[in-house]
Amino acid sequence: MKIICIGMNYARHIEEFAGETPQNPVFFLKPETALLRNNQPFFYPDFTKNLHYETELVLRIGRIGRSIPEQFAARYISAIGLGIDFTARDMQDECRKRGLPWEIAKGFDCSAPVSPDFILPGDFRDIRDINFHLELNGVTVQEGNSSSLIFPFSRIIAYVSQFITLKIGDLIFTGTPEGVGRVETGYNLKGYIENRLMLDFDVK
Ligand code: MG
Repeated sequence: MKIICIGMNYARHIEEFAGETPQNPVFFLKPETALLRNNQPFFYPDFTKNLHYETELVLRIGRIGRSIPEQFAARYISAIGLGIDFTARDMQDECRKRGLPWEIAKGFDCSAPVSPDFILPGDFRDIRDINFHLELNGVTVQEGNSSSLIFPFSRIIAYVSQFITLKIGDLIFTGTPEGVGRVETGYNLKGYIENRLMLDFDVK
C-alpha cells in the first residue's frame, strides 16, 4: 500500500506559510513504514528540532482505479479516518530553500499516525461537510471541515489517479487546515471526527 498526501489544500493554512494557491492538487508520498497504528506512542526523532502536527482527514481506497472520472471518484472511498502528517518543519524549510524533495522531512518512520477506526462514507450526513479537530494536551489547536477543501475528495482522486494507479488499502491524507504547530516530548494528541474520538496517543 502507499500513502498519498495532499499539500496546500486549505486556504488559511496556505496563508500561514504565505504560499500560493495551487492550480491542481499538490501531492507527495510517504512509504508504508511511515504508518503508526493503534494509537501507539510516537517517539520524537532526534534529527529535528521543530516537529509539527498536521491533522488531516484520511481516505481509504476500496477499489483499484486509474484515471478515475471525477463524477465516479467518491465510489473509490471505502472509509474515512483521521491522521497526523508529522512534519520536520526545519528540514522541510531547508529542502524548500534548496529545491530538494521533502521525503526526509515528511516520510520518516512513524510520520503518519492513523486512527484505529475508519468511518464508512454512508455514515456521514455528507462527506463534503465533515468536522474534525485536534486537541493538544486537552486544548483545541486545529479545527477543520471538508467543505473548506480547495480540492475536494473527488477532485483529489481524479487528479492523482491520472498519474498513479490507486489500489485497495491505499490511504490519502487530504491536507491540513490552519493551526499547525509544534509538538514536544510528553504531549498528548487527541483527534476527533465530529465528536468521535479517533486518535489518542502520546509523544515520547
Ligand atoms: Mg499535510
